[in-house]
Amino acid sequence: AALLHLRAVAKTFPNGTEALAPVDLAMAGGEFVSLLGPSGCGKSTLLRIIAGLTEPSSGTVELPDEHRRAFVFQDPTLLPWRTVDRNARLLLELEGVPKAERLERASAALKMVGLAGFEKSYPRNLSGGMRMRLSLARALALRPKFFLMDEPFSALDEITRESLQDELLRIWGSEGFTSVFVTHNLYEAIYLSHRVVVMSPRPGRIERIFEIPFEYPRS
Ligand code: ADP
Ligand code: ADP
Repeated sequence: AALLHLRAVAKTFPNGTEALAPVDLAMAGGEFVSLLGPSGCGKSTLLRIIAGLTEPSSGTVELPDEHRRAFVFQDPTLLPWRTVDRNARLLLELEGVPKAERLERASAALKMVGLAGFEKSYPRNLSGGMRMRLSLARALALRPKFFLMDEPFSALDEITRESLQDELLRIWGSEGFTSVFVTHNLYEAIYLSHRVVVMSPRPGRIERIFEIPFEYPRS
C-alpha cells in the first residue's frame, strides 16, 4: 500500500505561472525518491506541496496524519545567537515538548549526526558540513518519519558532500525513514534514491520515472 499518494496535483501561482501540470505519484514507506530536472521545472513546488507548505491549486495529497514530516532547507537557517544544542532544540520548544524530553531528544539527534562534543559551539564556528549536520539534527529531533529536502547537499564541497551523503544513507536506512529530495545532480539522484523522478519545465511535469534497481557502488 502506498504511504503517500498524489492524485492530479497541479499548481498555478496567482500571477498565472503554471508551475505544475497535473502530477500523479505514489510512494511506499521507506522509499527514497529524488526529484531531478532543470531550474524552473517545479521541483521545489512539488516538494513544498508534499510538505504541506504550499496548497495545490487542484488535486489531492494523501498522507497519514501520524506520519510526521520534516523539511530540510538548502541553506540551514540556524540562529546565530544560540549554541548548537539550543539550535537543535528549537523546533521542540516551538512544539511545547517538555524540557527534559527536549534535552534528551536533541542530544540523541546531535549524536546521530556526529555533533556530540560541539553542543556549546556557535553556528559561526562550524564548517558548512557541520551546519548542515546541525540542520539535520534539528529535524531529526522532531522524530519525523518522512524527510523532505531541498538540495540539501548543493552548498557543500565535494568531500563534505560525499561523507554526509553516506551518513544520511546509513541513518535513513537504519531508521526506516521515507524521503523525497530535490537535486539537479544526476549522480546524487542515482546514488541516493530508489526512484528518480525526472521533471521538465513549462509547465512543470513528470517526464519519466526511473527505478534504480541496484546499490550504486562508490569507488
Ligand atoms: P524548480 O524548483 O524546479 O527550480 P520551482 O518549483 O521553484 O522550480 O518553480 C517552478 C515555476 O514556478 C518557475 O517558473 C518559477 O518561476 C515559478 N514559481 C515558483 N514560485 C512562484 C511563486 N511564488 N509565484 C509565481 N511563480 C512561482
Ligand atoms: P564533515 O561535515 O564531513 O564532517 P567538515 O568540513 O564539516 O566535514 O568537518 C571535518 C571535520 O573537521 C569535522 O568532523 C570536525 O571534526 C572538524 N571541524 C570542522 N569544523 C570544526 C570546528 N569549528 N571546530 C572543531 N572542529 C571542526
